[in-house]
Amino acid sequence: MFVLPGDFIGTTEEFRAGEGTYVNVADIHSLNTGYVKVNRKSRTISVEPRTGFPPEINEGDIIVGNVVNMRDSVALVEIGAIKGKGEREFQTNGAAAIHVSNVKDAYVKNLGKEFSLSDIVKAKVINTQNMRLSTDDKSLGVMKAYCSRCHSPMNKDNNRLKCPECGRIEKRKLSSDYGTGVF
Ligand code: ZN
Repeated sequence: MFVLPGDFIGTTEEFRAGEGTYVNVADIHSLNTGYVKVNRKSRTISVEPRTGFPPEINEGDIIVGNVVNMRDSVALVEIGAIKGKGEREFQTNGAAAIHVSNVKDAYVKNLGKEFSLSDIVKAKVINTQNMRLSTDDKSLGVMKAYCSRCHSPMNKDNNRLKCPECGRIEKRKLSSDYGTGVF
């Protein structure tokens, strides 16, 4: 299970709080961005910091990936390819995060109006320490989106997306390259 700092991972009734965790009353939370590990023998729960990102990812790199998880303040993106470094599948050990403050050059109130699960996004790597991404540029943002009602690929219609199947209209932080496949 991939967690962010502060995420609830268990209770002290079930587990002992191990490395990378902290206890608040009887709840165990994650201190790190990483993976939850449970030692069954000692019943210790810990969070292993996320490491093992391809070393070739650098700050400033442009990546494309899939939105794999949506939270209140972050969209988590599984990186699929890095521009100029081969458009192959990378074996990444987790997701990179687009924080609500790095979506665009404007206040974002509802992240769900900018990204949605399984969207394909183009983003810039702004921090490799904790794998933060930004889509704050005209060319960055959603490249392909699927209708939340019928899952059909949506078409760009002015600044919105329209489903060719069911007619649903949705909003996203769109890349100027939406639908072109240009990376
Ligand atoms: Zn639809």
